[in-house]
Amino acid sequence: MSIDRPIYMDNASTTRTDPRVVEAMLPYFTEIYGNSASRNHSFGWDAEEAVTIARGQAAALIGAGPKEIIWTSGATESNNLAIKGAARMHAKAPAGSTGRGHIITATHEHKAVLDPCKRLEREGFDVTYLEPPSDGIITRKMVEGAMREDTILVTVMWANNEIGTINEVPEIGALCHERGALMHTDATQWVGKMPTNVESDNIDLMSFSSHKLYGPNGVGALYVRRRRPRVRIEAMLDGGGHERGMRSGTLNVSGIVGFGKACELCSEEMAEDAERLFKLRTRMENELSAALDVVAVNGHPDRRLPHLTNISFGFVEGESLMMGIGNIACSSGSACTSASLEPSYVLKALGVGDELAHSSLRLSLGRWTTEEEVDTATRGIIKAVKHLRSMSPLYDLHNEGIDISTINWQSH
Ligand code: PMP
Repeated sequence: MSIDRPIYMDNASTTRTDPRVVEAMLPYFTEIYGNSASRNHSFGWDAEEAVTIARGQAAALIGAGPKEIIWTSGATESNNLAIKGAARMHAKAPAGSTGRGHIITATHEHKAVLDPCKRLEREGFDVTYLEPPSDGIITRKMVEGAMREDTILVTVMWANNEIGTINEVPEIGALCHERGALMHTDATQWVGKMPTNVESDNIDLMSFSSHKLYGPNGVGALYVRRRRPRVRIEAMLDGGGHERGMRSGTLNVSGIVGFGKACELCSEEMAEDAERLFKLRTRMENELSAALDVVAVNGHPDRRLPHLTNISFGFVEGESLMMGIGNIACSSGSACTSASLEPSYVLKALGVGDELAHSSLRLSLGRWTTEEEVDTATRGIIKAVKHLRSMSPLYDLHNEGIDISTINWQSH
């Protein structure tokens, strides 16, 4: 059977809000609408109680205490607060030429990590950007090699949003604790999908986001460790002193209720979801590589999220591929900037060439992805790639055994 309607395979970008989450949120628009900071009436108390329950649900998902959850507007804000907040709070006095302190991150992090790091460089901090090997994994050893006396903070994402590869985060956290540095991880793609325990995983600061785990948009959280060590960060927003002074602003109660409910559902269902989606992804990858040659899965073959795959298709042109796959909603290896199509900097960091980066697809499955959808999408991709290659003189040359990288294209 085939499906005519669009097939959603872009869950790493955002997820459908679980209807059970929407149901939990609804009373908080029209019935329980108080400001959770209002201390002198029941409208405020009821809202505060709901926020407290959600704090417990989010904390339980990651093995934290409820007071260690700081609500934000999403992972972008959480990353900014964690990175700038920790660096500025722990800045060393600019004595001599040593600068204000050292931060370690990697070149294939999300922009919501890289851009705050760049801003800190302008403020006088030193930043080391680790370059990933072709499998995309940042290891403890790599971080160890970059550690300095004045390293304040290491920020390494748990799972990469484009290729799903899983860095050695608990190991890097342990190293940070041995060396007296703080460990922040952007766990936006990880939390809610894979088991997380900030205690045994040695995390001090961790960003995650509601809309990636079947909750509503515009809500996120930052885990901030309270004990061993007590982590202190400088606020970015000054105002009413909400969230223990770390993030002022009236709380988005309905959104937080939804995020909490989404966390609770993930705690209960993520193991089952991961197993099912891993089987579907494997089926998809196997079918694609059985039907097509010159395909490559990007990143480490095993050490990656179970529901995501990033595949390059040789001898097809990226934009034509996106057009060709029509009703499959997914991301490509081209990042749309204002005027031009840039090849993905993540794939480039792994050493994937510009052409192949453009002709890559990120397919990310989710809670509602069905076997039928996977099969229809797989057939659609195979058909599109075969069609494009049937018109490709380069693919003909390749089939004749000519290594096109050796051809001198200049005319004489
Ligand atoms: N970090 C990663 C790894 C992400 O995938 C995303 C979302 N694309 C973000 C941060 C930003 O999250 P948000 O949309 O919640 O601001």
